[in-house]
Amino acid sequence: MQAIVIHAARDLRVEDQPEAAPGPGQVAIRIRAGGICGSDLHYYQHGGFGVVRVREPMVLGHEIAGEVAGLGQGVAGLAVGDRVAVNPSLPCGTCRYCLSGEAQHCLDMRFYGSAMRMPHVGGGFRQVLVCEAARAVKLPADMPLQRAAFAEPLAVCLHAARQAGKLLGARVLVTGAGPIGMLCLLVARHAGARQVVMTDLAPKPLALALQLGADAAHDLRADPQALGPYGADKGHFDVVFECAGSGAALAGAIAAARPGATIVQVGLGGDATVPLNALVAKEITLRGTFRFHEEFALAVDILARGAIDPMPLLTEVLPMDQAIAAFELAADRTRAMKVQIAF
Ligand code: ZN
Repeated sequence: MQAIVIHAARDLRVEDQPEAAPGPGQVAIRIRAGGICGSDLHYYQHGGFGVVRVREPMVLGHEIAGEVAGLGQGVAGLAVGDRVAVNPSLPCGTCRYCLSGEAQHCLDMRFYGSAMRMPHVGGGFRQVLVCEAARAVKLPADMPLQRAAFAEPLAVCLHAARQAGKLLGARVLVTGAGPIGMLCLLVARHAGARQVVMTDLAPKPLALALQLGADAAHDLRADPQALGPYGADKGHFDVVFECAGSGAALAGAIAAARPGATIVQVGLGGDATVPLNALVAKEITLRGTFRFHEEFALAVDILARGAIDPMPLLTEVLPMDQAIAAFELAADRTRAMKVQIAF
């Protein structure tokens, strides 16, 4: 069995690993599709993000889907051959946050492909994954697994939308047109937003945003003042999804948001300067959002019904022996939106 393992920044290897058998309550899943996420890219390019560093070799990947290949003792509701999306999030179920329904804040979270804890939790970029049956969410038999591999990033955006409050009839700004920004656009449209405006610093993703239903798309590198008119009469947007993870994007969002708006900070970006006076005077709510919990099953349901179609975001699928080429492509925003690996 082969897996894609990060050893250090720029040291990504496809390696043989022992294939485990599923124990009681576990399933073996033949992974078919895996999307490369921004955090996978951070491990590849920088060896981590923020204070999180790769300190031992770790299998990457947490946007994964496949087919059940084996069942451990006592597993019900799944059969060999079933297609499944794999929830990379496994909260402990017993800590104070799990017990209060806020499992995304679990004190003992085991999230796939994450170096946050030691030993690291290996991810799903491998040919066979043995996992707790509770992680495997059954899909319709004919659902393409490349589509199912979007369940995780879509769940992130559904959780972000929950932080935003009411989207029906809202005027929405999305800053940062990467895969998460694009899925926030699709979620806002799905939820009945009246208007969705996108910003980025590159023209290509903005052109795609317009194809996917954005009402306007502004290239702030070409026109740094493009959001200026939205600041008239104290501001325009009811909701902002700040997906760029940048202080400049947040400052622009605060200027363009109307009094009482909610800004959901989705992107991670280290420390930033916040224009506090405007935030205070306009009574803006600035909220974080972190991962997801029950939204994973909702994301699978939405994708299975075709209510949101993420496939225009898929740039290319590369085989796992071309993992480095896949990561290089995913890192190049002039060429790629979402890159997946086939196992
Ligand atoms: Zn917990």
